[in-house]
Amino acid sequence: MNITVVGTGYVGLVTGACLADVGNTVTCVDTDERKISDLKNGFIPFYEPGLTDIVKKTIASGSLIFTTEFVVGDILFICVGTPGLSNGTVDMDNMWKVIDTIIDVADSPKIIVIKSTVPPGTNASVNSKLRNSGVNHVVVSNPEFLREGSAVQDFFAPDRVVIGTINRVAQLTLKDLYLFTPCKTSILVMSAIDAELTKYASNSFLATKISFINQIADICEGVGGNIKNVQKGMGEDPRIGYDFLTPGLGYGGSCFPKDVDALRNIAGNLAPWAPNILDSVHEINEDRLQSMVNKIKGALKNDIKGKVIVVLGASFKPKTDDIRDSQALKLVDLLLEGGAFVTIHDPRATDNILKRYSNNPKVCVSIDAQEATKGSETLVLATMWSEYNRLSWDHIKVNMKQPIIVDCWNMFNKDDLKQRGFKYYGIGNGAN
Ligand code: NAD
Repeated sequence: MNITVVGTGYVGLVTGACLADVGNTVTCVDTDERKISDLKNGFIPFYEPGLTDIVKKTIASGSLIFTTEFVVGDILFICVGTPGLSNGTVDMDNMWKVIDTIIDVADSPKIIVIKSTVPPGTNASVNSKLRNSGVNHVVVSNPEFLREGSAVQDFFAPDRVVIGTINRVAQLTLKDLYLFTPCKTSILVMSAIDAELTKYASNSFLATKISFINQIADICEGVGGNIKNVQKGMGEDPRIGYDFLTPGLGYGGSCFPKDVDALRNIAGNLAPWAPNILDSVHEINEDRLQSMVNKIKGALKNDIKGKVIVVLGASFKPKTDDIRDSQALKLVDLLLEGGAFVTIHDPRATDNILKRYSNNPKVCVSIDAQEATKGSETLVLATMWSEYNRLSWDHIKVNMKQPIIVDCWNMFNKDDLKQRGFKYYGIGNGAN
């Protein structure tokens, strides 16, 4: 099929490259000239395992093209950013600009697929705007569920594909397009509004699991329990499962916070119902940061002013260089506000951290986790990169001015560290 993908970010680039890899001809369009120029040369502007090879291969075979000129394929995938606004609504400017361009340049009916996460009712609004322009395009809601860090794998073998449209031709075309997915992938056809809601409900449910286990961790800490045991005891139940049941700094990234906020906002406008669960999920997540700062302060005799703190991990989760809405960096900002000097290390996000803190003399960015600990008074694990399990603790103990570790994810071996002479602070362990 002849496909246009609009927006070449984490979702659009993976969608475009993978659809080209399974035999389609794909044109990826983006307004960011620098990004398109980099992509034409096979340079991927972010870290995503496995993506570079596919992009290079499909460029070489001629099935993947990058351009800033809007090209109209038979199917157009819209993958532009839909960031959250501070009032909890969604910034839809990018989406509407794309729709305006489609109205200008597409003079025959096309299948327009919305992959971006958009509030329920968007499909209907887009549809009515396009119809008013005089061309009968079909608008399908096909939300994306890939996870950064395993996006390529997720795209080729998704748990489910949601096709939101009542148009039979569009349903069959999309089913055909997704024939590359394994037999076990559920292809779910539903109304557009249900597809839009499915995306928000899924992300909000996962965020709820995270806030739930964080609340249980706090209770453990209060009553003398150990969250690690409780987590195992819960996770072994297949009805609960281990996924998203890891207590820690809470959820961040470019999706969960804005999607929870958007759903809170939507529900908040539906009086008499109030989004009580979602409000609590959000509040618990916000509170994680201050309670972790308090823990760090407690480890440093309630004073972090002038102290050198090394923060390991900056990306919003491991296996990505994406620092958008990262809890790790929100924690860094609170430490800076408290007067600390912070040295940050991340295995993949160095460039992004340097951009964010380029003007801050109190931040040092290190490319070596072990060296980063030199002269520090506390080491904070802020993102669970597995690489940090291979650190030489003896070396670090010599480097540090005070051997204090605050493990925001309970990732390190507490007993081993204590034996080596570190003061260890984890979370959710009242017996700590
Ligand atoms: P992104 O910010 O990485 O990429 C968006 C791209 O769209 C940018 O390259 C930008 O230049 C381009 N763009 C903006 N306006 C444009 C226009 N008018 N024409 C052409 N290009 C334009 O965003 P992302 O992380 O890929 O997310 C895209 C959407 O997918 C969002 O709605 C997001 O919520 C959703 N989503 C993201 C993920 C994820 O893990 N990142 C997962 C599932 C769904």
